[in-house]
Amino acid sequence: MSPPHSPTDGRKMVLYCQECGHDSPITGDWDESRHGDEVQFRCPDCGHLVTRRPCKEPKPVPL
Ligand SMILES: [Zn+2]
Repeated sequence: MSPPHSPTDGRKMVLYCQECGHDSPITGDWDESRHGDEVQFRCPDCGHLVTRRPCKEPKPVPL
């Protein structure tokens, strides 16, 4: 048996389009475009702006 593990731990973040319901991992088929200091993720199906992230990835905090 596999040890109990949080299902969201260590998995890729999944984004959902609120317009058409398209879903894909953040590394998936989203249309990424850079605008200044942020990256915008748009739905490849309907072009809806799904999310945006700063270009500078926050550094993971070592435990
Ligand atoms: Zn969409």
